[in-house]
Amino acid sequence: MSEACIFCKIIDREIPAKIEYEDEQVIVFYDIAPKAPLHLLIVPKAHIPTIMDVSDSQMNMVAHMHKVAQILYTRLELAGMRLVNNCNELGGQEVFHLHYHLLGWKLEV
Ligand code: 5GP
Ligand code: ZN
Repeated sequence: MSEACIFCKIIDREIPAKIEYEDEQVIVFYDIAPKAPLHLLIVPKAHIPTIMDVSDSQMNMVAHMHKVAQILYTRLELAGMRLVNNCNELGGQEVFHLHYHLLGWKLEV
């Protein structure tokens, strides 16, 4: 937990978010400024600043983040998805708490 971190505050319910999924390791909520028809953020509950700070023993948790993407793809009936991680300022990262963007598309009916 990092006191100044906006995602830690969402995890601790200090600020609101629309939560789509939660388990003991991760929380998933809707991005406040969506850049696709469906835009979720897959966020570990542990405060890890960037993907480069993930230790070998935490890699199972990163694999779990991918498993959660699979679960949500099925649950939300998506037909296409992009999983994006921005790392450090030059990589476009604005919130320094590890997360994947899940950008999703459904089939047009
Ligand atoms: P980054 O650039 O760090 O990869 O992405 C951070 C994302 O967090 C951005 O897409 C931004 O819209 C989102 N974001 C920033 N603050 C909040 C917030 O308070 N609530 C939610 N739901 N999303 C946020
Ligand atoms: Zn944090």
